[in-house]
Amino acid sequence: MRFSEFGLTTLKEVPAEAEIVSHQLMLRAGLIRRLASGLFTWMPIGVRVLRKVEAIVREEMNRAGALELLMPAVHPAELWQETGRWDQYGPLLLRIFDRHQREFCFGPTHEEVITDIARRELRSYKQLPINYYQIQTKFRDEIRPRFGVMRSREFIMKDAYSFDVDQAGLDASYQKMHDAYTAIFTRLGLTFRVVWADSGEIGGSKSQEFHVIADSGEDAIAYSDEDDYASNIETAATSPAATTRPAASAALQKIPTPGVRSIDDLCKLLKIEAAQTIKTLIVHGDDGPVALVLRGDHELNAVKAQKLAGVASPLTMADGDTIRKATGSEAGSLGPLGSKLPVYYDHAVTAMANFSCGANEVEQHFTGVNFERDLPLPATVDLRNVIAGDPVPGGNGTLKIARGIEVGHIFQLGTKYSESMRATIHDQDGKERAMHMGCYGIGITRIVGAAIEQNHDANGIIWPEPLAPFDVVLVPINLQRSAIVQEAAEALYAEMQALGVDVLLDDRDVRPGVKFADAELIGIPHRVVLSERGLTGGELEYRHRRDAESRDMKRAAVLELLLK
Ligand code: ATP
Ligand code: MG
Repeated sequence: MRFSEFGLTTLKEVPAEAEIVSHQLMLRAGLIRRLASGLFTWMPIGVRVLRKVEAIVREEMNRAGALELLMPAVHPAELWQETGRWDQYGPLLLRIFDRHQREFCFGPTHEEVITDIARRELRSYKQLPINYYQIQTKFRDEIRPRFGVMRSREFIMKDAYSFDVDQAGLDASYQKMHDAYTAIFTRLGLTFRVVWADSGEIGGSKSQEFHVIADSGEDAIAYSDEDDYASNIETAATSPAATTRPAASAALQKIPTPGVRSIDDLCKLLKIEAAQTIKTLIVHGDDGPVALVLRGDHELNAVKAQKLAGVASPLTMADGDTIRKATGSEAGSLGPLGSKLPVYYDHAVTAMANFSCGANEVEQHFTGVNFERDLPLPATVDLRNVIAGDPVPGGNGTLKIARGIEVGHIFQLGTKYSESMRATIHDQDGKERAMHMGCYGIGITRIVGAAIEQNHDANGIIWPEPLAPFDVVLVPINLQRSAIVQEAAEALYAEMQALGVDVLLDDRDVRPGVKFADAELIGIPHRVVLSERGLTGGELEYRHRRDAESRDMKRAAVLELLLK
C-alpha cells in the first residue's frame, strides 16, 4: 500500500473524549472514528487489524472442529420469550418494531437462535458432538459505553455453541474450546491469564474468562506466582488463619477516642497500623442486622458475604438509624465485645492479638483486645477480598494481583436452553434427552483495544506482529527529489509485495520527521529508511518499533529478517 493512496489521517492532539490510552491511540492512528455513543466506524487501517484477529480466530476454531455459520443480527421477540430472557435482559436489549408492529431485538448474544437451529437440525446422538460458531456483529445497549471499542454498544464477537449428548461430552467440548482459546491468544502475541469466573468455583456452572493483563483493565485478578491458578478477585477464596496467634501481652483498656469515625482516624490517634485494628460492619440480615468483623486493612467481599446464612442478598449495609437502634452506638465505634448481634468473623481476625476495636459506646474504643481472654475464640468464615501475598487457595505459592481485560469467556450452559426450548435428541437407547450445551465468546473488536493497552509507549502503538496492519513501513528520504532513492524504494516495495510481506510505502512529500512520527504512532513493527547517503554505501537503515536505535543493514539482510 502507498501511503499517498491510503487516505489515512493521523492526529497529533490527544482527543479529549478518550479516557484511556488505547482509545486515544486508536483515534490518533486513524483506526476508528466515532459515529455516536458506543458506535464506531472501522477505518481501512483498523479493518486490516480486525481481519488479522479474525483470521487467527477462524483458523483455530476450524482446527478445533467447529463449523462456521452466520446467524441473523435481528431476532424475533417470541424466541427470547421462550427462554424468559425477553424480560430478564432488561434495557441492555435493543428492541425494535418492524412495519407490522411485530417486536424484534438486535441480538446481544445468540443462545436462543442457535438452540432454535439445533432443535430443528439435530435429532440423533449420531449427529453429536457438534460446535457451531460465527463472527458477527452484536448490539448491547451498555449503561456506560466507554473506552472506545473496549466497551462499545455495537461490537464484533466470535460466538460458538457446542451440543453434546451428556455432561461428559460437554466436558470434552469445553476443554477443546479452552485449548483453542489458549492457542488463539498465544498466537495473537498477547500476555493473558485464564481466570475462574464468578460461577466457576462456587457451585454454579463451570466458566472461565480469558483476560489480557493491562493496568487499565476493569477486573482485578488474583493469580499464583508459582502455578496456573488465577481467579477473579471476587471469587478467590481465603483460607482459615494458619499462623499461630501471638500471646496476649497488652492489658485490655477502654479509652476515649473523640472524633474517631473511621479506621484511619483510629490509627492516626493511636499511632498504629490498620492491621492492628478490627472493623465491624453492620449489614441487613433475614432477622435483623448482622455484624461482619474484618481486620482493619481488609476489604469486605460482598459476593462472599451475601452467600452466608442469614445475611440478606444482595448485600445491603445498614444505615445510621438501624445501627444506632441495634448497637446503641455509632458506625465509627463498633466492635464485637459485648455486641448482642449475630456476628460473622473473617478467617484473618483470629490470627490477631492485642488489637483495637470499637467499644460499642460513642467515641470509645478498646485497645489490647485478645481472644480467649477478653472474648471467646470464634468460628470464622471467608469474608474478604484476597490481597497480594495471600496463599494460593488449594494451590502453590502466593497470590499476586493484576488487572485484566476480559477478551474471551467459555461457559458450560448445561441444559438451561435446551430444556426451555425443547432441543432434544434421541440417545443410544432411543430415549429423548435435552442436549448439553456450552457457549464460547471472544470479543474480536475488544481484542484490538486490549492489545494496544498492553503494547504501546509514549510515541504510539507497538503492534504485536500477528496483529500489525502492516509488517513493515518503507520511509524514503527525499523521494521526490532523488532518483536513486526513488528507484531503490520502488524496487524494494515491489520485491516485498512479491514476497508476501505487508508493506506500507510512505511516498508522501512531507518532512522525514512527520513520516517517522506517523510510523511510530501507527505502530508498524519494522521500519526501513532509504536515504541517498545510505544507498550509496549499499546500506538501509533498519529499526524495530521496540528498538531504541536504528542500525545499518544490507538490503538482503533486511529481507531475510522480514521473512523470518
Ligand atoms: P463484560 O463483563 O465485559 O460486560 P460480558 O461478560 O457481558 O462482558 P460475554 O457475554 O461473556 O461478555 O461476551 C463475550 C465477549 O464479548 C466478552 O468476553 C468480551 O470480550 C466481548 N464483549 C462483551 N461486551 C462487550 C462490549 N460492550 N464491547 C466490546 N466487547 C464486548
Ligand atoms: Mg463474560
